[in-house]
Amino acid sequence: MKIKNTLIIIAMSIIGLTSCKSDSCNQNPFLSDYGTYLEAPAFDKIKNEHYMPAFIEGMKQHKAEIEAICNNTETPDFNNTVWAYDKSGELLGKVSGVFFNMMECMNSDEMQQIAEEVMPLITAHGDDIAMNPVLFEKIKYVYDHRAEMNLDDQQNRVVEKYYNDFIRSGAGLNEEEQAKLREINERLSILSLQFGNNLLKENSNYKLVIDNEKDLAGMPQSSIDAAAEQAKKDGLEGKWVFTLSKPSLIPFLTYADNSMLRSEMYNAYYNRGDNNNEYDNKAVIKEMLALRLQKAQLFGFDNYANYVLDVNMAKDDKTVDKFLGDIFYSANELAKKERREMQNLFCHDEDVHAEPIEIQRSDWWYFSEKLRKAKYDFDENYIRPYLSLDNVRNGMFMAANKLYGVTFEKRNDIPVYFEGVETYEVKDFDGSILGLLYLDFYPRESKSSGAWCTSFREGGYDINNVWHPALIQLVMNFTPASGDTPALLNWDETETMWHEFGHSLHAFFSKGRYSRTCGNVPHDYVELPSQIMENWAGEPEVIRMYAKHYKTGEVMPDSLIEKLENSALFNQGFNTTELIAASILDMKFHELTDIDVINNLDVDEFERQQMSNIGLIQQIQPRYRSTNFGHIFSGGYSAGYYAYTWAEVLDKDAFNYFKESGDLFNQKLAKSFRINCLQECGNDEGMVQYKKFRGQEPSIEPYLKARGLK
Ligand SMILES: [Zn+2]
Repeated sequence: MKIKNTLIIIAMSIIGLTSCKSDSCNQNPFLSDYGTYLEAPAFDKIKNEHYMPAFIEGMKQHKAEIEAICNNTETPDFNNTVWAYDKSGELLGKVSGVFFNMMECMNSDEMQQIAEEVMPLITAHGDDIAMNPVLFEKIKYVYDHRAEMNLDDQQNRVVEKYYNDFIRSGAGLNEEEQAKLREINERLSILSLQFGNNLLKENSNYKLVIDNEKDLAGMPQSSIDAAAEQAKKDGLEGKWVFTLSKPSLIPFLTYADNSMLRSEMYNAYYNRGDNNNEYDNKAVIKEMLALRLQKAQLFGFDNYANYVLDVNMAKDDKTVDKFLGDIFYSANELAKKERREMQNLFCHDEDVHAEPIEIQRSDWWYFSEKLRKAKYDFDENYIRPYLSLDNVRNGMFMAANKLYGVTFEKRNDIPVYFEGVETYEVKDFDGSILGLLYLDFYPRESKSSGAWCTSFREGGYDINNVWHPALIQLVMNFTPASGDTPALLNWDETETMWHEFGHSLHAFFSKGRYSRTCGNVPHDYVELPSQIMENWAGEPEVIRMYAKHYKTGEVMPDSLIEKLENSALFNQGFNTTELIAASILDMKFHELTDIDVINNLDVDEFERQQMSNIGLIQQIQPRYRSTNFGHIFSGGYSAGYYAYTWAEVLDKDAFNYFKESGDLFNQKLAKSFRINCLQECGNDEGMVQYKKFRGQEPSIEPYLKARGLK
């Protein structure tokens, strides 16, 4: 969800850049206090033209702050060096916190143009700081003398973290190597943007237009209505338009009887970025892999994965490979069993003695849904009426209240960037303010696909020791309301909302004096706070709290809850296999050690080969194919997609602790989880913090059981 090291990544070499002219300064909302409640971004005043001057002024101020540290003639100590550095870059953080999040949810050609202009500047700015020899000398002095400086535990940790950050950002390299690193970083920043922009274009360029009603056979009415509305929007009234956004795509793959059209949608989705057109990502991938390997080599690592993993809980590629390999084998076997079940049930031709017909990749959703109905008498459409967006959202607020005493009050006076975005004031059990929560629910063309949690501003102390509450944004792409029917979520969307909400609780609860450690956890820990919330969402006791029929208010009947529970293990072979296959693909790319191999790489062939090596069944592809794997090529998850699974072992073990206590809302455990795993999670290494809560290392058993692998 968040990468805290932005300050060190953030950059500045631009000497002689003009700061803003006084007129635009006066009107630029970034350059003075917003004057809003909690200093929430003044979206009603922010215009695209404000970004660039604010970035430039932000870099200028940051540079001046760094120079002040460097020019200080006193002996370097914690306060005049580390503390001052920790609190620098406020304005740059302020504009970045808005711009880069708007890039993801309010994208436009103009925004892309600004990003392309500003990214190289910011990257260079970050490199200037990270490779500033005087600054590093001072940080190193404090690091070398920390034992004599009477520092407390947290101060020691901050010093060690920053020292390591500087080393990992090139401070210890010679001049020639530093110049090369700068070039690599700058190019990578551009390529990563390009990858994301290509993907966005590929997402929005595809539409399936249906003009024959017969082709809608099998589809639920809500999806047909939504497709008709989309057609109207596109000026195709009387037809039906399906897109590659999940609320449109998944019901089509699941219900449409027309297998040819299902196959067309499936291929359009999986081949994004691989169409040999101007938005093709294969060349981008090759160049990125080559640059990443060169970067890792500069730091003495044999591959990029090991450079990344060195600061994660997992530590190295072998640990991750073994972890993924063990799970993959059982998951793939389970998927084979699921395939057999589907084939036996549905894929005969007229002659019962004939061999079952082989099912196709694009058939999996369709037949698995039929299997679910046959085996568990369960259909997503039975539960949707109980899962209105309002009920699901209020349910997660209620659960957080029962666990931690926090409350959520809707505000109508906070500026938002798009009509319909909701804002809530979040208060702690004692009434103190934790921050603001922004909820942005529905797809639009300017929004990336998927769901995420991010911040306009993280909670933290400023240089004057004043605490600023967090401003957190959750972005989703859920099924919208249609006609008189409110937005009714499926189970995946329900879990997704609780998941992203879990990230926000981590952000709201994080407390700590220093930005470097406050709430800052290794990448493979980040999904623990989010994924653990999904467990509560699915417990019968909790479902009864929030799942009420949108028309009658009737609580979801026990018989239906039972069916939902019984089918919890349904299709887990498929789900786990596609997830782990993508994680393995990510690792294989980043374990390459030979630059010539990368330069001669056929991206598609490499993917096919790697998937064949692990024996991935033919009906399943990795959850993301290489050319649309935004997580690893434009989203900061390179050599890190495994982190979802790594953290799932933690969250299943942690939740099991609650269950075993006999009380899902056990106050003692909730308090301990909040303090050790959310509030003070940055105070020590991930496993140390986890063990403070759990009393022992996690067991993998609850994970294996939850995934049906044991
Ligand atoms: Zn997450």
